[in-house]
Amino acid sequence: MNAITKVIIIGGYGRMGKMLCDLARNESAFELCAVVDRKELLDSASGCECDVMSDAGEAMRTHPEAVAIDFTTPDAAMDTAGLAALLSTPLVIGTTGFSEEQKSKLEEFARVSPVLWSANMSIGVNVLLDLLPRLTKALGPAYDIEIMEMHHRRKKDAPSGTALMLGEAAASSRSWSLGQTRRSCRDGLIGERGDREIGIQALRGGDVVGIHSVYFLGPGEIIEIRHQAETRENFAQGALRAARWLQDQTPGRLYSMQDVIREEIA
Ligand code: NAD
Repeated sequence: MNAITKVIIIGGYGRMGKMLCDLARNESAFELCAVVDRKELLDSASGCECDVMSDAGEAMRTHPEAVAIDFTTPDAAMDTAGLAALLSTPLVIGTTGFSEEQKSKLEEFARVSPVLWSANMSIGVNVLLDLLPRLTKALGPAYDIEIMEMHHRRKKDAPSGTALMLGEAAASSRSWSLGQTRRSCRDGLIGERGDREIGIQALRGGDVVGIHSVYFLGPGEIIEIRHQAETRENFAQGALRAARWLQDQTPGRLYSMQDVIREEIA
């Protein structure tokens, strides 16, 4: 492992990007090489002495040893992933809201150059994801599973990528497909809840960083597992940890934060 991990932050003027730049600048294990964002924003000060660019490809070519970290939009992240595959740049993606088609394309890119994607980079959520299958199996089918997520008013995708990951983990523990069992809207005279359902509801407002609750609703009892992100720092710290891990990986499959924590816990 290189003593210092060089990073390029794509979407560096955004909420997550700014947090990542601050951390990377202040932690001795990282070197912030370049910040990339949309051209029209680059006039405002980035507050950093590194390269500030609007072209992710130029940043990757200028800093061939760096790992790129993308927190932008699904379309922008797909462009980044295409460039990273072309230039063999390891890429950590935190962006959420990809279509199934875009996810398949990311899997293709990951066969060419190392790519890690996680809809939630926090250690807490990833440990919860690891525990969820065990909990689901131990409680058994008598417990209905419902998921609630809450985020700030500016979040563009719903339900959150994290809620979908939690839903996938619960569904696959019951050998279900989330696509066939997910219930994201209940309105009107809809009848009784089915046995084969996982409800996922999204709340939006204010400046909530991110709350996820998984409920197991059973006979005479409720179990709630809740994760509440107080700041974005957890996500940014996780993304940097992922970048450090990814620099030593070879391409092959799309990695996730689960790969990082499992290796570190083992
Ligand atoms: P934001 O809107 O504050 O920031 C996005 C930034 O990307 C903006 O500065 C925007 O100008 C920039 N951008 C857009 N298109 C670009 C392009 N073509 N080239 C370069 N830059 C471009 O959003 P945010 O709150 O920072 O979130 C970003 C993404 O990260 C969202 O998808 C969000 O859901 C996700 N997110 C993931 C995690 C996680 O742990 N994985 C945590 C928080 C947010």
